[in-house]
Amino acid sequence: MSEIQAALLKLQGTHEAEILQQIEEVYEEIQKKQQIWYSKTDFSCPQACGECCRNFEPDLLEGEALYMAAWLIQNQSETADQVAAESFPFPREKGCQFWNENATYHCSIYGARPLICRLFGASSSYSKTGDIVWKPCKFYPAQDLAAHKPPLAHKQYSVEETKCLLGEIPPAMSDFTEKVVAVTPAEETLLIREILPETVKRLLWIIKMNAGE
Ligand code: SF4
Repeated sequence: MSEIQAALLKLQGTHEAEILQQIEEVYEEIQKKQQIWYSKTDFSCPQACGECCRNFEPDLLEGEALYMAAWLIQNQSETADQVAAESFPFPREKGCQFWNENATYHCSIYGARPLICRLFGASSSYSKTGDIVWKPCKFYPAQDLAAHKPPLAHKQYSVEETKCLLGEIPPAMSDFTEKVVAVTPAEETLLIREILPETVKRLLWIIKMNAGE
């Protein structure tokens, strides 16, 4: 089910609504493919880990920023207004501006998270020779990997090895990056703090114009 249905209605007939629908389709495809991975394996991120976001702030493509802005406008309108005023709920010098240290699951905009956040702990990649490979997340505790049955390590596994050890291989990250780039072809990316305020302001203005105000 769409997480931005109300925002899409307000943007009906605009170029931005078309972009948002295409981005949501990519996000839904990721979810479907990851569900296959999760249903066939017993491997997932450690409960409430969040280490990958502690000192990391994602760079966003235009389509990802538009999705995040639309999601905020629909689901956290006060935060959307705050961001439009160039302020963030969890400001930090280094790291994501939506990472809540005190919340169990840390991400305060889970439904709006960009591509990297959707894929980081559950994706494969292409090796230099073009083969799909999988490697456990670098933040996964080594002792937990060693305790897995069968034991795993911080190393790269081929498709065959991954399927043998875990039963399935997760989707490849760059396949989805290409799809998101194709929606809004400019490949420039900007940090959340750099791109989001203008993007929220832009969407709020278009919504206002679309409503004939
Ligand atoms: S958007 Fe959420 S998942 Fe992504 S880096 Fe920020 S806090 Fe982490």
